Formats: sequence, structure tokens, C-alpha cells
Amino acid sequence: MSKGKLIILSGPSGAGKSTVVNKAIEKRGNICFSVSVTTRKPREGEIDGRDYFFIDADTYDRMLENNELLEHARYVNNCYGTPASFVNEKLEAGMNVVLDIEIQGAWQVKQKIPDAVTIFILPPSMALLEHRLKSRGTDSPEAVAARIERARQEIQEADFYDYLIVNRDVDLAADQLLAILDAEHCRFQRSVCDRVLSNEACDDLL
Ligand code: 5GP
Repeated sequence: MSKGKLIILSGPSGAGKSTVVNKAIEKRGNICFSVSVTTRKPREGEIDGRDYFFIDADTYDRMLENNELLEHARYVNNCYGTPASFVNEKLEAGMNVVLDIEIQGAWQVKQKIPDAVTIFILPPSMALLEHRLKSRGTDSPEAVAARIERARQEIQEADFYDYLIVNRDVDLAADQLLAILDAEHCRFQRSVCDRVLSNEACDDLL
């Protein structure tokens, strides 16, 4: 079976990353989210094990020491990390795995797994981003200000990403994400040509 693609999705908090991915999952089944660990407190409506694994600082430190995290970062006073085992299992099973992570983590993963696909999602404007974060009502005015400041920094540093999606419309952004995924699966691979040359069945490819 051909392995799934690892997709790293970053962009300002409030740019609509999870909404876009959920829309893409609705349209196509073979995509899943990696669930991160975080020391942040759950927001209203967030579910442990679905949105994040909410853990305390000691558990986070232990996971780091035991090398259980594919990448990790601090973001506005909280720690976040991607458990490696889940990602590896899903990729081996042929699923495309999306990491919704910030830019430092994206850089770490790209160094470890160069063929990971990196996509940066932008809001149509900073004004709209601020409006979305405020109307979400889940963060204090200080936390919103810190997130906007961090968003500006991240956009400045995002040049290493492979693709950019401006989220004007969720449906369109999800289609763009799927188009990128299709293009990545169609990248030239000598091993595929060799399988065709030797008459090996290639039904599992592309
Ligand atoms: P939030 O607190 O809004 O859920 O997430 C804040 C930021 O942390 C977002 O930019 C999100 O992409 C990022 N993030 C979530 N999980 C991880 C993770 O496992 N690793 C890293 N590096 N960033 C993460």
C-alpha cells in the first residue's frame, strides 16, 4: 500500500485552518487530523482526545524526555506537541495526516521529514482576523492582542512554506487543499515507473 502524505498546515489562530480541513475531510475520506497534546486549558466546547489531549506540564515534560513528540513548541504561554506514534501509524495505513501546527513546529518537521507538504493559510486581511478572534469570544482582549502579534510575526517568517491558501471562502480553500494533495501524490517517482515496467499491479497508487 502506498503511504499517506504528511501535510503541515500553519497560519494564524483564527485563519480557519480546522474548518478548512474538516470541509476537505467531508469531501474526501482518506484524510485525518493528528491530535496534539497541549498544556493549554480547554476552551468551551473542546473535547479531550478530539481537539487536543489536554495534559499538565509534568506529563508534557515526560513526553519530551521520552522522545514521544515528533515536534513541539511554545505558543503564547502554552506548550504544544505532536505525538509521533499516531502520525506514523496513520501514514503507514495510507491515510493523509494533517498537522495543524504553528511555524516553529512546522520547521522542525520539515527538517526531519523533507517530503512533508507545508501549507500556510492566511485570512483575507488582518482586520478580519482580529474581528474573528474577538467574536469567537474565547480569549481575553490581552490574549487576542498576543495572538494578533504572533500572527504578524508568523506571516513575516513563512517564506519556507511550499503552498499558500488565502481563506476567503471555506469551500474554495478546501478544494485548493485537495488539489495540492492530488498534485503531491502525482509527483514523479521512478519506483512507480519501474512497477509499471515490470507489470506489477499499481491499483494502490495515486
Ligand atoms: P490554539 O491554542 O488556538 O488551539 O492553537 C494555537 C496555535 O498552536 C495554533 O497556531 C496551532 O496551529 C498551534 N498548534 C496546535 N497544536 C500544535 C502542535 O502540536 N505543535 C505545534 N508546534 N503547534 C501546535
